[in-house]
Amino acid sequence: MMQDVRRSLHRLPELAHKEYNTAERICRELSRLGIDFQKDVAGTGIRAEVGRANGPCIALRADMDALPVTEETGLSFSSENVGIMHACGHDGHVAMLLGAADLLRQNISCGRVVFLFQPAEEAGNGASAMISSGCLENVRMIFSGHIDTHYPVGTFVLDKGLICSYTDPFTITIQGQGGHAAKPHEALDTVVIGSGLVMNLQTLVSRHINPAHAAVVTVGHFSAGTVHNVIAGKAVLEGTIRSGAPATREQILIGLRRLIEGTAKMSGSKIELTLHDGLPAVINDELSCKTARQAALSVVDEEQLVSQEFPSLGGEDFAFYQQHIPGTMIRFGAAAKKTAGPAHSSTFDFDEHVLPYGANWLAAVAEKGIEYLQQTGGENGRSRF
Ligand SMILES: [Zn+2]
Ligand SMILES: [Zn+2]
Repeated sequence: MMQDVRRSLHRLPELAHKEYNTAERICRELSRLGIDFQKDVAGTGIRAEVGRANGPCIALRADMDALPVTEETGLSFSSENVGIMHACGHDGHVAMLLGAADLLRQNISCGRVVFLFQPAEEAGNGASAMISSGCLENVRMIFSGHIDTHYPVGTFVLDKGLICSYTDPFTITIQGQGGHAAKPHEALDTVVIGSGLVMNLQTLVSRHINPAHAAVVTVGHFSAGTVHNVIAGKAVLEGTIRSGAPATREQILIGLRRLIEGTAKMSGSKIELTLHDGLPAVINDELSCKTARQAALSVVDEEQLVSQEFPSLGGEDFAFYQQHIPGTMIRFGAAAKKTAGPAHSSTFDFDEHVLPYGANWLAAVAEKGIEYLQQTGGENGRSRF
């Protein structure tokens, strides 16, 4: 079932908030399994549940959305939706969560498990929409996993503390004066101003942040001008700040504002900075992380549990759930053929043998979580470190 779900979702990927076919397929599978569910949660999301209504409650979450990437894998089940691709493995996440639901519906003896099929992870606002819809009501702990092709199948990557960074997307708009390419003195060239600013932004991390602290500033989009012989009167830059600690984040934001003010003064242009809603860091609390570890050890041997060693500077909206209840996110090793590209690339692929590992861990972590909550009378500390 899992491989079939994964492949059919892969064939028909859908972008954030538009996961209609995906949601329909999930509902079909849940109905087939005889599991109660509520659809249209936060738009295209689904909340399903198994177990006893009054027992301790654990949530498991999978994201559902694809990316605006044109697939070039050559897979027999390649995307039929032009320009859209499951290039992050969320098709696999949905399949694994359905697999876990199947396992749990047959085995659950006490407690309750809520399955959250969440839209729009890539847009960064699916998790908060699910939370606003009340889907965490009575839930005591939440768990999730992400496919990671840096590690072989059968490996679980598990760490407590910070595993994904704070992310702060920004837009910078530079207003200068357009003019003739041969008469720069009559214009105010935003390509030159913007280029200088991009170079100076590189010094925020390299010269202002303690080298032992993780941070990155990337400008991923720079647009200005129209043709070779017209000086561009306006430039727009878009970028993202990633940081591993609130103090580092603050320092970079202060530096960014300072550089923008300085550049505007130096060049005589008007520069506007817009900070967009970002993501908090994913921080696995100690207790839920312990539960995640016990669950992993019920699926694989100790040697197959590894650490990512350094926090990733990637972002994950799972962080929003952790702001409400304790939770842990792990990674499922899923290295594919050497020819497959990295996540978010047009040639991304993962080894489908990961699917049972993911499903088994999700089912096990729900059981261990319920066990823990029962033993402690529902106490679940919120230790942060
Ligand atoms: Zn992604
Ligand atoms: Zn992802």
